[in-house]
Amino acid sequence: MKDKKFYITTPIYYTNWVPHIGHAYSSLVADVIARYKRIDGFDVKFSTWVDENSQKALLKAQDLWMNIVDYLDMMATKHQAVWDWLNISYTDFIRTTEPRHHKFVQEVIQKTFEAWFIKKGNYEWLYCIGCESFKKVEDLNTDWLCPDHLTKPEIIKEENYFFELSKFQEKLEKFYEENPNFTIPNNRFNEMKTFLKEWLEDFSISRNKKLFGIPFPIDKEQVTYVWYDALFNYLTVCKYPVKSGLSISPDLDMDFWPADLHVVGKEIARFHVIYWPAMLEAAGYEKPKNVLVTGFITVDWQKIWKSLGNAIDPVEFSAKYSRDLMLLYLLTAFPIWNDWDFSEEQAVFMYNAKLANNLGNLLNRFLVLSLKIWGKIQWKIDDKISYNISQLTSWYDSIRMNSYDLKQTLDKVFLFWDILNKYLDDTKPWNLKDESQLEELINILYTLWEWLRIMAICLYPFFYDKMWELLNRIWLNYWDLEKCDLNFNELFNKTETFTIKEKWEALYPRI
Ligand SMILES: [Zn+2]
Repeated sequence: MKDKKFYITTPIYYTNWVPHIGHAYSSLVADVIARYKRIDGFDVKFSTWVDENSQKALLKAQDLWMNIVDYLDMMATKHQAVWDWLNISYTDFIRTTEPRHHKFVQEVIQKTFEAWFIKKGNYEWLYCIGCESFKKVEDLNTDWLCPDHLTKPEIIKEENYFFELSKFQEKLEKFYEENPNFTIPNNRFNEMKTFLKEWLEDFSISRNKKLFGIPFPIDKEQVTYVWYDALFNYLTVCKYPVKSGLSISPDLDMDFWPADLHVVGKEIARFHVIYWPAMLEAAGYEKPKNVLVTGFITVDWQKIWKSLGNAIDPVEFSAKYSRDLMLLYLLTAFPIWNDWDFSEEQAVFMYNAKLANNLGNLLNRFLVLSLKIWGKIQWKIDDKISYNISQLTSWYDSIRMNSYDLKQTLDKVFLFWDILNKYLDDTKPWNLKDESQLEELINILYTLWEWLRIMAICLYPFFYDKMWELLNRIWLNYWDLEKCDLNFNELFNKTETFTIKEKWEALYPRI
């Protein structure tokens, strides 16, 4: 067991749909961060999940003439298959219909009730089934429809239980002040702060006459409703980390709490940035350290909707090209605070420019030069390196990756490929043919080799299988980065002899 712990989660995935490219985007972001932390010596818990206590899932099962349990089993299997295909390195997969989750949610509601944060009330609300959330009149479009679903919201009148969010207004303001980086990026945090100023009302957490859901512990006539039935999954996997875990001893993974990072889409940011910290405080749990909010991927400038048939299947797309192409595009084409319109041509273009050409060219030149002088001299690491490597490594580790700025990290590393290609253009080592110039040639190659090694380590969390291959090609004494006991700085500083004996195939063939 490692001392340093890191707990990261993916967004909520609903089960009325298999994951599309937007979901893959969020999961890939989480995966890169999880892999980075593993190499940096952390014991990483990485949880992903499906929210099954939903009206949408029930309606969908009815549409298909399926039993709800069979339907949910089928969908959970499909979700897991997508994440496995994409090699998302999760350690926990939780379904919110699991007994361990029901048990924990009931414990939490009981605690919250006893702390006087749950009250009974009569309310009449507009409710959109598609969004699974209450709507205010001003949320609707000019035709009184949900602007996202273009459906008429239901009018709900019933007596149910409310979480007294209004009691947390000042506490949240103070919490935000004390944690100025709680929500990343800044533009999303500012949106949430505006919300907090304008609107903080108690929200309904139970419903009656609903057939499907977690029984509400303080009233048998009710079932638990959003967001209590969903968000506490993040804690369920810490409190009851084993699936069949009702009989096992609890608190096994509680030292992973509070979560270090929740990755969420912007449509659920409000619930994670405003509701969730209040719900946790009310139940006596610590708040998560950070929430990272991603924008939307659109297709032809429209939000992806099942009914529009405009979803891009991440499995199909990565099978046609590669995981690396998809990841490169999703993580570098646009900053995380933006929405972005998906473009296959642009994805291929970026892949060819950055991976096939820029890196390919550099590797090829390195290979040709190394083969040329192989055997002439015993290789040994030289301290004379023309470019300042520590500039990249300290920047990478302490600044970018730890603030989860994945685009800037990649952009910066790619910039060094250009610098190195230019370095070769300037030094022209292929002209150093004379025996007396051998030392100079070797110095240039060492410089290049050391840079390639460092960059492959930097890029490993992103493109792990190709970077593993690259490290194996240039670095004899290579070992499994995610399992070794070295952190990034130790890896960066670890110098070894290297050897290149044979020609290799292009790491990233041109498309
Ligand atoms: Zn809606």
